[in-house]
Amino acid sequence: MQKIEHIGIAVDDIDKSNALFSKIFGKANYKSEIVESEGVITSFFKIGDSKIELVAATNSEGPIAKYLEKNREGMHHIAFDVEDIEKEMIRLKNEGVRILNEKPKQGADNKLVCFLHPKDTNGVLIELCQQIKH
Ligand code: ZN
Repeated sequence: MQKIEHIGIAVDDIDKSNALFSKIFGKANYKSEIVESEGVITSFFKIGDSKIELVAATNSEGPIAKYLEKNREGMHHIAFDVEDIEKEMIRLKNEGVRILNEKPKQGADNKLVCFLHPKDTNGVLIELCQQIKH
């Protein structure tokens, strides 16, 4: 694993939270992207080298909708940049860490992503992401 790629915050209302975090960070988001397959809308802010991702549900079926049914808004996941996501998935499986999706998925921001099972990571939801190279 390399650096922290971003920190994800689950929010109920993307427009309200965009306005709120723009105020907090003193700058607007630099991109917003819907990930249809996950039923989410994301919004990214850059603070120096760090990125914050706001995530809200676009339908009631996706993982963020389910999360927000059971939890309040707030810190949701930490994402780490990896060079080769398939290789990392195999390495972690061999370490006994369960992975929530069998295959890497297309995430926001031109990334392949997967999530580790929070029961195997002290309750912290960890996302791995690999930049898609064209
Ligand atoms: Zn993320």
